[in-house]
Amino acid sequence: MTPTSDRPVPPERMCPSTPADNATVFLGMITPAGRVAYVTPAMPAEVAVTAAAEADAPVEARYRLAGPCVTSRCGFWTGEHCGLGERLAASYAEIAGEPEADLPRCAIRRTCRWFAEQGSAACAACAHVVTDAR
Ligand code: SF4
Repeated sequence: MTPTSDRPVPPERMCPSTPADNATVFLGMITPAGRVAYVTPAMPAEVAVTAAAEADAPVEARYRLAGPCVTSRCGFWTGEHCGLGERLAASYAEIAGEPEADLPRCAIRRTCRWFAEQGSAACAACAHVVTDAR
């Protein structure tokens, strides 16, 4: 018999800056000014991957994609949390101070790894991130 538990199952955490081969959600588009224009409600990653298929640049250079956090299979995983989210939030705070009260509307906040660990400071930095898929 399978043991039962009343404990809630923690949500799967999403990486908000993942390469196309791990992506499930089309998170946003990189604008000419280098900011992320978030796509809501959530759209499948295939929409961005298909749109970028004919372009010279890799999909990650034009779009932001999200997918399941792979924890220890990612070089940014510290063993306990995402080191990239931590670093981004810290450097944004150093440059810009307190994050704006209005968070960007994005499709994954409820499960986002960076937001869960860094709070609104991660969102302020997130809008400036272009995924390095090398
Ligand atoms: S860091 Fe904030 S804005 Fe970026 S994907 Fe996560 S919840 Fe959304």
